[in-house]
Amino acid sequence: MRVISDTGEMAASCGNAVRPLGLVPTMGALHEGHLSLVRRAKAENATAAATIFVNPTQFGPGEDLAAYPRDLPRDLDLLAGEGVDLVFTPTQESLYPAGFATWVEVGEIGEKLEGAVRPGHFRGVATVVCKLLSIVRPDRAYFGQKDGQQTAVIKQLTRDLDLGPEIIVCPTIRESDGLALSSRNAYLTPEQRQAAPVVYQALSALESAWKSGTTSVPELRERALEVLRSEPSVEGVDYVAVVDPNGFHELDTALPGAMALTAVRIGGVRLIDNVVLG
Ligand code: AMP
Repeated sequence: MRVISDTGEMAASCGNAVRPLGLVPTMGALHEGHLSLVRRAKAENATAAATIFVNPTQFGPGEDLAAYPRDLPRDLDLLAGEGVDLVFTPTQESLYPAGFATWVEVGEIGEKLEGAVRPGHFRGVATVVCKLLSIVRPDRAYFGQKDGQQTAVIKQLTRDLDLGPEIIVCPTIRESDGLALSSRNAYLTPEQRQAAPVVYQALSALESAWKSGTTSVPELRERALEVLRSEPSVEGVDYVAVVDPNGFHELDTALPGAMALTAVRIGGVRLIDNVVLG
């Protein structure tokens, strides 16, 4: 496995790599969710590449950039164990040198839900993903369903800017109690960790109401909120929404294939999750 921090060297190594090349972008602090993407990239491509970069431009002021968990030696061991060929570990200064001024705005899709609660978040995501895809030029890039709106943003950006790779969305990996794996779960106290499966329970209640024939989104939302209200550790619910998975337009009636999403605050920790109906 080659670990490369220089942008030019990474571009050259990817240019010379045996094709097809599959890329898994991450912010590190790797867990089984990330590794499921890596395994898929490895299985489907002749060359598997990963990036580890805590992207400062997708964090808002007052968010957890400084505290975000980092453990590069452990991450590299895990990636080596999966047989990854190339790992890109750029510095902040190399991706955002002095004078950096060009941003990727994805329009409406990046301004609602997560984008409304975290202004500028998807601009940062779209910009760094655009840069990483331009450097690596993969044939396929792998992202997790867990970050449902992010996958829609990345598909839009790839299409609009003719970036080329096939975008592959992989299923959400969960703990046995349903909690979606996330690097941010490390912030939860033991009591908050015990309460956290309520997020998936709320989405599951919404999903079973839908399967029983309820298609009205206000009613479905209320089912999820009832479950969330029953857990005293829930300090706030930023949204419960049902959207069409492509345009991310909020729906009044939940059709098959719609995505139900929520963002919930437990203690100071913000947890997001989603399920696809149908
Ligand atoms: P992050 O390091 O949080 O930016 O995540 C890197 C990639 O891993 C993104 O495409 C995420 O959607 C994906 N990912 C994170 N958590 C999970 C999970 N629990 N299951 C599947 N993919 C995940």
